[in-house]
Amino acid sequence: MMDGTTGIRTPWQTPPAPGEAVEVAQGVLWLRLPLPMKLDHVNVYALDDGDGWTLVDSGMNTRRTRETWEALLSGPLGGKPVRRVVATHHHPDHIGLAGWFQREKGAELLTTRTAWLFARMLTLDEQDRPPPETLAFWRRAGMAEDMLNERANERPFNFADIVWPMPLGFGRLTEGGTIRMGGRTWDIRCGGGHAPEHATFWSRDDGLVLTGDQVILSISSNIGVYATEPEADPVADWLASCERLSTYARPDQLALGGHKLPFTGLPMRLRQLIDNHHSALERLERHLDTPRTAAECFAPLFRREIGPQEYGLALVEAVAHLNHLHQTARAVRRLNESGAWEFSRVG
Ligand SMILES: [Zn+2]
Repeated sequence: MMDGTTGIRTPWQTPPAPGEAVEVAQGVLWLRLPLPMKLDHVNVYALDDGDGWTLVDSGMNTRRTRETWEALLSGPLGGKPVRRVVATHHHPDHIGLAGWFQREKGAELLTTRTAWLFARMLTLDEQDRPPPETLAFWRRAGMAEDMLNERANERPFNFADIVWPMPLGFGRLTEGGTIRMGGRTWDIRCGGGHAPEHATFWSRDDGLVLTGDQVILSISSNIGVYATEPEADPVADWLASCERLSTYARPDQLALGGHKLPFTGLPMRLRQLIDNHHSALERLERHLDTPRTAAECFAPLFRREIGPQEYGLALVEAVAHLNHLHQTARAVRRLNESGAWEFSRVG
């Protein structure tokens, strides 16, 4: 429900500097780690369990992040041990150093089963060249021939490049379960669309919500389709998750997300996320008056120039939105002479 009286507020305008912490509630520290990307940071949280810490997310495995962690551990975390790492989802900026904390710091990893399986599978699946399935996926998405040829002969992005090897063993978090951390009991609620079985944590004792990348202020989480499941419809998962999480959301809760600033106004933010995707789908549908491949659909979806750094994310997001229109019978598709899916609107 839209409630005009409950806007979005950001109690802190300045994020913690590298190696420093901001206490957002008693026993809950907000930390920031660097990312070597356009989105240049990830938020992680340290929850005080008395005799040690539980970390929610861990950052990407780079030397710079590990150095930042060492400064945090001996600085704001006061030398107390990290006993548990909770990973909200399987992406490298969140789970990237879980294995390092397990192996080097004696911590336990807690996450959902899907997140753990995905992270471990992708980390072990090291590729020197893109496999034929990835090349076929790019071709079907309408990647230009010269880019396709260039990429076919390059080492692709590998999870193992930025995720510390993941040892065997984890503790499973499940939808509807609870976890005790930072002196609070948290309900575990899973979402999807950005990553399958993405965990969020809702405090029963006060208004804190650890949202990971499921709900972020001011940017929309990437929703992508990959060669692992080319016919997936993550936009449907995302919309359903936003609707379902809305039933737990209150205007006063403090949302602690994986990127950007903490905020209050979760019901409105979830409504915005739903509305933004519906608008994007409508713009895309109109764009399909002329048959288009995914690579030809950046303009209506992003409404800005997509640089080479963002091309990969933009392509998987375009496929996701086209798959959604196709699978909800708002678009049809045919393979063109270059082997790419061309989508046209229905009616
Ligand atoms: Zn993510």
